[in-house]
Amino acid sequence: MKKLAIGAVLAAAAFIFMAQKPAPQPASSSLPRTPKLVVGIVVDQMRYDYIYRYWDKFGNGGFKRLVNDGYFNRNTHYNYMPTETGPGHASIYTGTFPAVHGIVANRMNDLNTGKNSIYCVTDSSVTGAGTSSGEGKCSPRKMLTTTIGDQLRMNTIGKSKVVGIALKDRAAILPAGHSADTLNGLAAYWYESATGKFISSSYYMKALPAWAETFNKYDFAAQYMSKPWSLLLPAAQYTESLPDDNPYEGTFAPHETRPVFPHPVDKLKGADAYKALPRTPYGSNLTKDFALAAIKGENLGKRGVTDLLAVSFSSPDIIGHAYGPQSMEIEDTYLRLDKDLTELLNFIDNWVGKNNALVFLTADHGAVEVPQYLTDNHIPGGYFEDEVIADTLKRLYQRHYGDSSLLLTVDNYQVFLRRSLFAKHKIDAAEIQRLTAGKITQMRGIVGAVTATDLLANEFTSGPRMLIQNGWHPKRSGDVCYIPAPGWLAGWGKTGTSHGSPWSYDTHIPLLWWGWKIKPGQSDAHVNIVDIAPTVCQLIGIQMPNGTAGKPLEGLIR
Ligand code: ZN
Ligand code: ZN
Repeated sequence: MKKLAIGAVLAAAAFIFMAQKPAPQPASSSLPRTPKLVVGIVVDQMRYDYIYRYWDKFGNGGFKRLVNDGYFNRNTHYNYMPTETGPGHASIYTGTFPAVHGIVANRMNDLNTGKNSIYCVTDSSVTGAGTSSGEGKCSPRKMLTTTIGDQLRMNTIGKSKVVGIALKDRAAILPAGHSADTLNGLAAYWYESATGKFISSSYYMKALPAWAETFNKYDFAAQYMSKPWSLLLPAAQYTESLPDDNPYEGTFAPHETRPVFPHPVDKLKGADAYKALPRTPYGSNLTKDFALAAIKGENLGKRGVTDLLAVSFSSPDIIGHAYGPQSMEIEDTYLRLDKDLTELLNFIDNWVGKNNALVFLTADHGAVEVPQYLTDNHIPGGYFEDEVIADTLKRLYQRHYGDSSLLLTVDNYQVFLRRSLFAKHKIDAAEIQRLTAGKITQMRGIVGAVTATDLLANEFTSGPRMLIQNGWHPKRSGDVCYIPAPGWLAGWGKTGTSHGSPWSYDTHIPLLWWGWKIKPGQSDAHVNIVDIAPTVCQLIGIQMPNGTAGKPLEGLIR
C-alpha cells in the first residue's frame, strides 16, 4: 500500500516535471566535449539590479534570453577594492584579485621610483598598429598572471585564437592576456578616440589584419554620430528613471546645454564626433559591429579548436559617470544594449550554434546612486576631496616630521608616502602609517583605515578590510588604505556617479551563463568575481590561470 502511494507520488511528480519542462534540450553527453567558441561579455558599470529594473522593457533576445535560457548567479560580487575598470577586467579573466594579478588601479603608483599616475596598460616600448599616435602604445605587460585565453593557447599549443575588443584599451587588453604571437593568435583591439578607428599595438601585430582595415574604412563611427541620440521609446515610458532634466546629470559641452533628449551629437563633426561617440549608445553599437567583424574575420569557432572572444561594452560606464544610474540616459543605454546583445547572440547562434558556444556576461564593477540625490532624499552619503585629505596630511607631516613632502599622493582610497625620505627623518614606517590612519579615520565620510604594516602582518578574512587586502599589492599599493562610508564618493562633482568602494552597489554585478552545456536556472549563493575564470577553465578541461584565487562554480551544467 505504502509502496504504491510513493509510486503514485513519483509518477505525479514526474508528470508535473515533464509538463513544466521547457523546450527539449540535447543531453549533455551528446554535446561536444569542448565548446567551439567561448564568448565573455563585460558590461562596464552594470549593476545586477538593472536586469530587473528594466526587465519589462527588454526584448526576448538579449538579457531575457540569457536569464530565461541560461544560468544566473544572482549574488556575484567583487571581493576586493578599488572596484575599477582595469582591476575588474583583469580579475574576470585571470580568476584572481589585484593583490596577485597586479592591476591594482586604472592609474597606478610606483613607490620605489616615486612615479605616480602610471596608466595600467601603457607601454612605451611598443608602437601602434593601425595608428602612429600614442593611443596605440599599450600592452598587458603590467599584468602579472595568465588569463583564460593564455591557458587556452597553452592547452592547444597556440592553435586557439583569442581576441579582446572594447572601446577602452584596458578593457580589451587585460581580458585577452599575454601570449601574442606573430600569427595574430592573440590580439586586442580598442578605439582610437581621435579617428574613430579600432587600433592595436606592435605587442600583438605589425599591422592590422585586412578585415579590421576594411572595417575602419567604412567609418561607422561617423555614420552613427550623424544622428542625434534620441529616445528608443516614447519618453512617458521611461518610468524607471528620474525626469529627463534633473539636477543629478552632467552635460557634455559644447554640444549639450542641458542634459536632455534628443542629445544633438550630430552637431559634432570629425575628431569631436569620434571623441564623443563613447559617451553615447553608439559606442555599444560600434563595439558589437566590430565584434561580429572579428568573429568572421578570424573565423572564430570554426577552426577545430576552442577560440575565445572577450568583448567589453565601455559606453554604459561613460554614460553612467555623466548622467547617473537613475537617468533616462542610462535606461535608454540598457534598452539599446539589449538590442546589441540580441544581435550578438543571434549571430553566435547562426555562426556556430548555441550548443557550441559558451557565453558568459558580467560587469567590471557597479556604481553608487548620485550621492547628492541620496542626501536630497535624507539618505546618508556625500563627497570628500582627495585634495582636502592631502592638505590635512601635509600639515600633519609638517608638524610631526618638519616635512610636508613626505606625502607622495592620495589616490584610489590610498595614501602613498615618499618612502625615500624615511631614512633622512629617521621615520619608522609603521609609526607614520599609524599616525596617518588615525588622522584619516577622523575625517568625514571615512569609516576606517588599514596600514601597509597591518596588511603584511595579518590576514583579514571578512568585511572591507579583506577587500582592501585582496586589492593591495605590496609593490604597487599605498601605505595606508582607507574605507569610504557607504554612499560617499571621493573626488567627484555633484552630478553623475562613480565607483571604487567595497560596498554592495559597487561589488554586486550580474553573472549570466548561456549556451553549450549550461542548464537554465539560477542561484542566490554568494560567489566571487574571481570564480569566473576557474569555472570556464574547469568546464572546458584546461588548466586554470596561474594566479587563480577563485573556485569553479557548481551546478551550471545540465
Ligand atoms: Zn569600468
Ligand atoms: Zn567607470
